[in-house]
Amino acid sequence: QIKARGKNGYLRYTPEMSRNHVERVDLDNELRVALEQEQFTLHYQPQVDIVEGRVTGVEALIRWEHPERGLLGPNTFIPLAEEGGLIFAISDWVLHESCRQLASWAQHGIHDIRLAINISPLEFKRADIVERILKPIQAYRLPPGNIEIEITENLLMDDAECVIAKVHELRKHGIHISIDDFGTRYSSLNYLRRFPINTVKIDQSFVRDLDSTGRSSPVISAIVGIARGFGLNVLAEGVETEYQLNALKAHGCQVMQGFYFSPPVPPAELLRYVQRRKATVPLLD
Ligand code: C2E
Ligand code: MG
Ligand code: MG
Ligand code: MG
Repeated sequence: QIKARGKNGYLRYTPEMSRNHVERVDLDNELRVALEQEQFTLHYQPQVDIVEGRVTGVEALIRWEHPERGLLGPNTFIPLAEEGGLIFAISDWVLHESCRQLASWAQHGIHDIRLAINISPLEFKRADIVERILKPIQAYRLPPGNIEIEITENLLMDDAECVIAKVHELRKHGIHISIDDFGTRYSSLNYLRRFPINTVKIDQSFVRDLDSTGRSSPVISAIVGIARGFGLNVLAEGVETEYQLNALKAHGCQVMQGFYFSPPVPPAELLRYVQRRKATVPLLD
């Protein structure tokens, strides 16, 4: 169950490695040292409203600046951090650091963007997750409506009773909730009635299909229709080409995220991107 993708020269961990006790202990130590020595860093990817032509949100995505192995992506260490339990300390760091960054952007005059933070099911199931999310928001005096927590469908399916109260509590505080990778898990649509969700994120696998078929996508049509019916916002992930942008627009999708606009970038670069977008006319007429 361990993801071992070698893309971008990311380190390959194998299931055998994680079963090996010695390696396991080494990795836990390495992750702990990485936290202490501030080797983790957040990159931010803009979410663009193509009609307004402006950045409406940014997603924080963690990276590990490994002293020997270079930049490691989250798929190479988040699953292992979850196994070893260090995920909780890492996610506290992510929450704190991304909120600090949003407050810092506000000082640069950027007040109107929402920060999206990924929270894995394991983290979300912790009893104190709501307090842990609220703490940095309050510490940096951020408007809770400018924070969005990204969760996945399987969380809502697995353990609905334990999770439902937490989702409601976050919403009561004004924090937004989005469903990441929408349509890729067990999509019993029943939970859409029970959970006060704000946004569904169309998974990039459906967006990728737009190029190969050259036709309208029934899945994307259905997702946009569901979102409309439930009064939810919809965002398309993984938009890489102008063709995909136009096809998504034709499907009624207005907010997009993907390499076509920008890959995830360090904070200073994100700020420049937001300012550049502010100065230009809408992407489409
Ligand atoms: P995700 O939340 O679905 O994030 C989207 C992933 O797609 C990111 O990969 C992003 O770099 C990539 N992406 C964005 N635009 C494009 C595009 O146009 N084309 C393609 N091919 N890919 C694109 P990344 O950064 O490697 O993150 C992978 C996953 O790791 C994330 O998926 C998220 O589930 C998890 N993750 C990232 N940061 C955190 C974190 O701070 N905490 C937790 N718990 N999970 C995280
Ligand atoms: Mg996400
Ligand atoms: Mg996603
Ligand atoms: Mg994901």
